[in-house]
Amino acid sequence: MSLLVVGSVAFDSVKTPFGEAEEILGGSATYFSTAASYFTDVNLVAVVGEDFPSQHMNFLKSRGINIAGLERQAGKTFRWKGEYGYQLNEAQTLETHLNVFQDFKPALPPFYREAQGVFLANIDPELQIDVLNQVISPKIIACDTMNFWISGKREALLNTLKHVDILIINDGEARQLALEANLVKAAKIIRSYGPKHLIVKRGEYGALMFNSQSIFAAPAFPLENVFDPTGAGDSFAGGFMGYLLNTMNFSEASMRQAVIFGSVMASFVVEDFSLNRIKALDYEEILKRYKEFKQLTHFEEPVDVFNQ
Ligand code: AMP
Repeated sequence: MSLLVVGSVAFDSVKTPFGEAEEILGGSATYFSTAASYFTDVNLVAVVGEDFPSQHMNFLKSRGINIAGLERQAGKTFRWKGEYGYQLNEAQTLETHLNVFQDFKPALPPFYREAQGVFLANIDPELQIDVLNQVISPKIIACDTMNFWISGKREALLNTLKHVDILIINDGEARQLALEANLVKAAKIIRSYGPKHLIVKRGEYGALMFNSQSIFAAPAFPLENVFDPTGAGDSFAGGFMGYLLNTMNFSEASMRQAVIFGSVMASFVVEDFSLNRIKALDYEEILKRYKEFKQLTHFEEPVDVFNQ
């Protein structure tokens, strides 16, 4: 089953308390595609500039990611610069340069239009809707965004959300989007904008999935070494959507499993800069960590403590 993603392909400059790196491969669509590529076919839509090296193109191809929709245009590749303090949950954006994304008008290759799943990764909501409108009949549509677009393009974002089944954002973004501090109330407000399901990522505290019937809570994997959180959210979304497209089962039970696969992929990516940790995982380590997650949250029914 094929999963189409539109989002940024970027050069990131990142500083964490444990080190810094300049102009490394990043971008919401890059992390998403790489994580999803372990589960399903991925068709990538994005734009890069003349400065984007063929070595990065080759990496994407080596993961089996389809790059027919990755255009190269005159100008510079998108650049993002961010910094994290010891509280690694949220990046402070220092610089955003849209560059070739400024005037990007993608025309999807014909076979991309047949995609069964669509992920609108973090990028201009006008671009998200433009791409979505070109897909013929997707079975499942998910979306991400960030403070940059919530404050900068709120109306366009609300328009995109009308067409989305699942919104995947972090807790700060949920509060900002709903204009409500309490996450349970914020979830109700956001679901009234369109998405039937809302997933709120809470960094080291895990993720919550809200729908009309239930709330599901997944922990984050307790890691000893968290090196660079960049891309955790996108890799979560990649594991989540990749699993759903692999199974084409969108039941509550399957979505809960997908949340765990998302958490597994996010837990790997933060162990190193850029895509270094997730560029070559094997299926056994992915399944091993999935099982460790199951163990982490497993507990038995209580014994009859109150009637003795
Ligand atoms: P996250 O998974 O939330 O850590 O996403 C990090 C990625 O988002 C980085 O690799 C950045 O290149 C990318 N990014 C940052 N700001 C933006 C933006 N305004 N639009 C699109 N992508 C962005």
